[in-house]
Amino acid sequence: MSHFVLLPGDGIGPEVVAEARKALEAVAARFGLSFTFEEQLIGGAAIDATGDPLPMSTVEACRASDAVILGAVGGPKWDDPLAKTRPETGLLGIRAQLGLYANLRPIQVHFPSASPLRDAAGVDILFVRELTGGIYFGPSSVSDDGLVARNEMVYSVPEIERVVRMAGEAARVRRGKLTSVDKANVLEVSRLWRRTADRVMAEEFPDVDFEVVLVDSMAMHLLSRPRDFDVVVTGNLFGDILTDEASMLPGSLGLLPSASVGDDPPGLYEPVHGSAPDIAGEDLANPLATILAAAMALRYSLDLPEAAAAVDQAVDDVLAAGLRTADISGSGPAASTSEMGNAVARAIAM
Ligand code: NAD
Repeated sequence: MSHFVLLPGDGIGPEVVAEARKALEAVAARFGLSFTFEEQLIGGAAIDATGDPLPMSTVEACRASDAVILGAVGGPKWDDPLAKTRPETGLLGIRAQLGLYANLRPIQVHFPSASPLRDAAGVDILFVRELTGGIYFGPSSVSDDGLVARNEMVYSVPEIERVVRMAGEAARVRRGKLTSVDKANVLEVSRLWRRTADRVMAEEFPDVDFEVVLVDSMAMHLLSRPRDFDVVVTGNLFGDILTDEASMLPGSLGLLPSASVGDDPPGLYEPVHGSAPDIAGEDLANPLATILAAAMALRYSLDLPEAAAAVDQAVDDVLAAGLRTADISGSGPAASTSEMGNAVARAIAM
């Protein structure tokens, strides 16, 4: 038996998480598995109910689960910059509480006509971004006169080793290729990153085809030859920028899942998009990113690769059959959130 905690959150979060649950229920029925579900509060919804964007009851429930599926947090209602608490604090808090240090972001082009690239068919990259170190968490200061500011990029060997290992493992079960991205021609911390990645890969992953690429070159390669990459591992800052660049390749935010994982379950699985307050409550949101995030939970936290593949395949089949939510339908007819979710659940059942 596997236990999921669902954190619907705010805006379209509850709508898309409900469809991910339908997909998981269809998987359980098809593969004879037993899944249980429990909803908990996070973000603005949690502030409204308890005054806290991450109640302790949510943390405890997540810790006791096998995987956590999150919708999104935030919205105009909680945007007051003077407010004591903000929904985003809940998201950062749950990642820290669960010890999640790597962000996995698959970039797959499900239907090339939506991509801004002329020829994006077959792009299938998994980014592994270090999430808890680097320049975002290094020492920082502003001079007394306010004229000079400083942020320090810091990485230690154990921090680099664990994320490179995670990426090496992922490459092993994909197409067997890993690219490490750094700026070793300029930054001391990148030279440590490169030495460490080289050693871990040589000693522990001789079967994985390994290369290193400078971050500025990588920004170009992502547009000129994105099909050449399988798994890409990089630090927090470079990963932040490159994953956003790569997220444009599939053509819609509504198709991008993401996972934050650590050494032990549970991982946290969520769509890349936010709470989309402009369309919340209208049954218009595309649920596919959250459904694909649920597939990642099956693959990475529950070790059910066949079940995960069935969900991925169902999404591809539904798109190939022409079903589109409004964000990807262009001038054609648009399916509602629940129609899309029901179609994926039916495709999983077949
Ligand atoms: P957003 O991703 O919510 O929306 C950007 C645009 O994309 C909007 O026009 C929206 O309607 C559309 N969109 C997003 N997801 C969609 C989907 N599944 N289907 C169809 N259309 C979709 O980003 P934003 O507008 O910058 O932020 C809105 C709120 O979400 C803010 O409060 C922000 O802080 C929060 N946010 C949360 C997360 C998270 O929870 N991980 C991430 C980003 C933003």
